[in-house]
Amino acid sequence: MIDPEIELMKTEQIRKLQEDRFLRQVRYAYENVPMYKKRFKERGITPDDIRRLEDAHKIPFTVKDDLRDHYPYGILAVPVRDVVEMHASSGTTGIPTVVTYTERDLRTWRRLMARTYSAAGVTREDIVQNAYGYGLFTGGLGFHYGIQELGAMAVPTATGNTKRQLKMMKDMKTTVLAATPSYALYLGEAAKSEGYDPLEDFNLRIGMFGAEPWSEEARKKIQETFGLRAHDVYGMSELYGPGVAVECEHQNGLHIWSDEFLVEVIDPKTGEVLPEGKKGELVFTMLTREAMPLLRYRTKDLATITWEECECGRYHPRIMRIKGRADDMLIVGGVNVFPSQIEHVLMDIDELAGEFFQIVIEGEILDKLYVKVEVDPKFYASDGYDEAKLKKRVEDELQAVLTLRARVELLPPGSLPRTEGKAKHVVDLRKKV
Ligand code: ADP
Ligand code: ZN
Repeated sequence: MIDPEIELMKTEQIRKLQEDRFLRQVRYAYENVPMYKKRFKERGITPDDIRRLEDAHKIPFTVKDDLRDHYPYGILAVPVRDVVEMHASSGTTGIPTVVTYTERDLRTWRRLMARTYSAAGVTREDIVQNAYGYGLFTGGLGFHYGIQELGAMAVPTATGNTKRQLKMMKDMKTTVLAATPSYALYLGEAAKSEGYDPLEDFNLRIGMFGAEPWSEEARKKIQETFGLRAHDVYGMSELYGPGVAVECEHQNGLHIWSDEFLVEVIDPKTGEVLPEGKKGELVFTMLTREAMPLLRYRTKDLATITWEECECGRYHPRIMRIKGRADDMLIVGGVNVFPSQIEHVLMDIDELAGEFFQIVIEGEILDKLYVKVEVDPKFYASDGYDEAKLKKRVEDELQAVLTLRARVELLPPGSLPRTEGKAKHVVDLRKKV
């Protein structure tokens, strides 16, 4: 354990520490970020009205557009000369969201990342191959800093160049792989087609996978392919980057490092704070961030939280799996469809390579849902492959879950584009009105 005195705090101690830091941070944001001063004023409140954690609900939310509106320097509470690093979100459309760090912020982030690795069982003996993208994306440097803070060895392959990636994995005797789950799935496939036996040729024991939603089926597949234990890591650039929450060795929910993050779960429609155990949108306040002290930041990520003690001895509350983003939900012909529902169905059918799929929605007047999915390479090459029969079965199983009929297209193995970063499973061709 990296910081046992913090990691093993009891719930009351955590709440006390959070309250002290929260009250200080609210004042700090109010005094140093004009946007917050203005918002507080509009609400008719000052930091004096925030006396306890329970007063948090009085503070207005911060949303992604607030960061965009303050492009390029974000919601800066310090002079630019005190900023030592910036990152920008992977947002592909519109204005990127820029985030900034002081020296102390970077130190905090490194420490959180070291804890994140360590909670998953990584030690300084490990050789960690970091296949997240280095650069503006927080994944690369975040996972990199953590390796060094832990004192393990970094193999900074970054994303891409998959052949060299696999060679390094074998030659360096990599024991830990850090990557998006999509890229890990692709690496498993590529390893086999390059003639490796992942269980024999590689030395992997732990995987640090995050930056996008992934299913239990994907976890099972990655674990079986590489013979490793796959851990879910959650974060986002607005909250330093990766390392907000991680699954410990018990793989039963993601511990939120609650000395640094105050989490609330809200009803995404009304903004009302929900009681423990209710599913809603995660809202975070960073408790010590210097450069960019976000208060009540709405993530759009849907999940439930539990404060129950974990078998690992930690009381830091756990996210019981991210259910996806509120804006991931598709409305097809009036029916709500989550891409993760489709993924579950596809991954459960052994005759498919269910991780390689694409959802296409078309429609001028009536919406049409197409699901393209690759067939499992072995099954595809076998005599038993009957395209029409399998297609019908997939369509039936999807219909049972979605309550609407999707048209399924079975593709030969390797047809869909592979990703090195986050997967893009949805193509919506409908004209936005
Ligand atoms: P963006 O993709 O918005 O440009 P980030 O790269 O910081 O910015 O991505 C953050 C988002 O990625 C989170 O809000 C969440 O939706 C998703 N994400 C990150 N980690 C996970 C995870 N372990 N499980 C599910 N979703 C995740
Ligand atoms: Zn635990």
